[in-house]
Amino acid sequence: AGKLNPDYTFVNFIEGKSNSHARAAAEHVVETPGGTYNPLLIYGSSGLGKTHLMHAVGNAIQRGSQRARVVYVGAEQWMNQFTSAIRHGRMDEFKNLYRSVDALLIDDIHFFAHKERTQEEFFHTFNALIDGRKQIVLTSDRYPKDVDGIDERLKSRFTWGLAVAVEPPDLETRVAILLAKADQNKVALPKEVALFVAQRVRSNVRELEGALLRLSASSRLRGEAMTVEFARATLKDMLAAYERMVTIDNIKRTVANYYNIRVTDLNSPRRTRSLARPRQVAMALAKELTQHSLPEIGEAFGKDHTTVLHACRKIAELREGEVKYREDYENLQRQLGF
Ligand code: ADP
Ligand code: MG
Repeated sequence: AGKLNPDYTFVNFIEGKSNSHARAAAEHVVETPGGTYNPLLIYGSSGLGKTHLMHAVGNAIQRGSQRARVVYVGAEQWMNQFTSAIRHGRMDEFKNLYRSVDALLIDDIHFFAHKERTQEEFFHTFNALIDGRKQIVLTSDRYPKDVDGIDERLKSRFTWGLAVAVEPPDLETRVAILLAKADQNKVALPKEVALFVAQRVRSNVRELEGALLRLSASSRLRGEAMTVEFARATLKDMLAAYERMVTIDNIKRTVANYYNIRVTDLNSPRRTRSLARPRQVAMALAKELTQHSLPEIGEAFGKDHTTVLHACRKIAELREGEVKYREDYENLQRQLGF
């Protein structure tokens, strides 16, 4: 089985809206292992801290009781051990190992999909541990019901205790994570640079860590100060990939949905206020969030570039003056991942 990573602790885990439920559940499990949250299943897409939280649980249980047998293992590794145990006639050993632990942490159980024999064996391990009131913690890249190729009996057991999601971090949490990681690694990261990176690198924590690593390595290597301009240049490729993720079509869909109108209404020549404002908002968002020029944006809305420019100014003015517009705009930015 794999080792617990001593760096993955609750202390090093930065909390935000996106992960606070998962974190609270994990802490609860540490206080009452084998209690009501059994199994604890943490699910969500890649790079959002599932493995980190799982190790944090393991580390904390281990610290609470030196003699507790806490075993961390990836689902793939578990399967390999299982097949090798069969091949070498060591199933007794394998069963003894996994049915005698106090806490079993199995990472990425979506990997068990379509592996029938592995699921069968895991089913027995699972039952033995739950019956013995031993804690099980699992992670998955999806809610178990949405994983194809997993036996229904197992699926239902996966959610017997508590299934809790980790979501992509919001802007505030992304900034906090960057600043905290910079601090831990003794990197002098100015706040405005953290904000610049967090506004752009929006997918997951692993990517944020990657960006920070590149910034610190490159600034050390070239002896350059960490400014926004430096970050823009150093992370050029990475940021370009993120910019490509927001398209004008995407913005149109999001805006139309937000104002409860049709996408085609955004292109229609009608001038009624109820359509004109959303259209201006969509144009302003396109200017701010994509690399497209005014004429390109105009074309996408069947208007010329002066109309786009006017829209950008009008929306900027309304956001200044009216809370409602400011909120709408910020909600839309957030929905688009900013
Ligand atoms: P997952 O297992 O969900 O794919 P990981 O747990 O491997 O993600 O996290 C990816 C990286 O991001 C790890 O280095 C982890 O320490 C870090 N990380 C994720 N979430 C947080 C967080 N909330 N605070 C601090 N570090 C985090
Ligand atoms: Mg993981």
